Amino acid sequence: MESISFDQLNLSQNILKAITDIGYEEPTPIQAQAIPLIMEGKDIIGQAQTGTGKTAAFGIPALELVDPEFTDVQVLVLCPTRELANQVSDELSKLSAYQRLRILPIYGGQSLERQIKALRKGVHIVIGTPGRVMDHIERRTLNLDNVAMVVLDEADEMLDMGFREDIELILTKIPEDRQTILFSATMPAQIMKLTKRFQRDPQLVKTIHKKVTVPSIEQYYYEVKFHAKPEVLCRLIDIYDIKSSLVFCNTKKAVDELVDTLKTRGYLADGLHGDMKQQQRERVMTSFRRGDIETLVATDVAARGIDVENIEVVFNYDLPQDEESYVHRIGRTGRAGKAGKAFTFVTVKELYKLKSIQKYTNVKILNQKVPTRSDAEDIKANMLAQKVKDTIDSGHMGKYVNWVESMMEEEYTSVDVAAALVKMMLAGDNK
Ligand code: AMP
Repeated sequence: MESISFDQLNLSQNILKAITDIGYEEPTPIQAQAIPLIMEGKDIIGQAQTGTGKTAAFGIPALELVDPEFTDVQVLVLCPTRELANQVSDELSKLSAYQRLRILPIYGGQSLERQIKALRKGVHIVIGTPGRVMDHIERRTLNLDNVAMVVLDEADEMLDMGFREDIELILTKIPEDRQTILFSATMPAQIMKLTKRFQRDPQLVKTIHKKVTVPSIEQYYYEVKFHAKPEVLCRLIDIYDIKSSLVFCNTKKAVDELVDTLKTRGYLADGLHGDMKQQQRERVMTSFRRGDIETLVATDVAARGIDVENIEVVFNYDLPQDEESYVHRIGRTGRAGKAGKAFTFVTVKELYKLKSIQKYTNVKILNQKVPTRSDAEDIKANMLAQKVKDTIDSGHMGKYVNWVESMMEEEYTSVDVAAALVKMMLAGDNK
């Protein structure tokens, strides 16, 4: 498809200014397709995942639709998790920087009172998890009579989490002449049922094979024996001095086991999986964002909605079950054009699955040999040498030169001193 610019999308000056401030250069494929259709008033089924720019794809037309003079809720966005609700809210706030709009995320775990107070003041756009939205409807603290657009974001995920009834009930509370937008990474039969019942002549837009973030991710695979995975993971973290990584396992049990192993070996690691309470999840996420946790181990479901900047490496510790999950997982690194790396562990038996992932993503996943511990020392020594050079080049060495010289008076050479320091650094004695 020809690339088009935001100027060609008939957007208001306020939104265009905000887009320029944020720094988006051109619409992503899903935005280029969905924005004009939604602005025409069409219902949309968008097959797109996180990382494709889907939030702005529905968010920009939603902001164009809202009348700021009128303080009833005019747009309702339903999403599966608190993280995603906050993320959508942040993105809409940035895009509406030049509009006077009230945007409110509402989700379980947050004080109802506070939400009620905020709702009473008048809110234009509500972004909520289905359970909490239902709560407010039942308490009559959220009135949906003037909603002109409803968005179901990550609809497949909401259904997986058991929100079908809530969603259906909520949709019946919204006037029928509304616009209904649905985004989902996958299109199982249940989703099709939902769209049949609640959408009018929906248009399908789809860019699943064209995730914007994939090309900027360096992708490697390592052939690893199953039992050697923990050792290889630790080695890679050590060698590349990785301070922020997301490690995907296929089961909750594997997450727990790996977290135990990593902790025992002294790594700053923790896990995320579906059994954890929202509060626990939040605590882990906050620690990860702050860097108190360097290695976050998670299942696919638990990792949905995670939006952390600067994840250096995504590890596919277990090969994902399907191609789409692979794309979804690695999209967690190198977001919006930033460089990132994806390291995938594959056992010999799984090599054929990797081939099919490569075919699907249309990107080369390069083979890398598992470094041995002695390679590790060479790689680390190279990284250290670079650091030393940078430190010398940046100057201010006088005091330290004096110290080294004082050691030389005791008949050590400067080479002895440097070699001892390198040895200590590589052994981790500098901590
Ligand atoms: P999403 O798929 O909505 O989760 O968006 C993924 C990331 O892409 C977010 O960090 C957005 O801020 C960013 N993004 C959205 N639209 C664009 C665009 N047109 N150009 C570059 N980055 C974008």
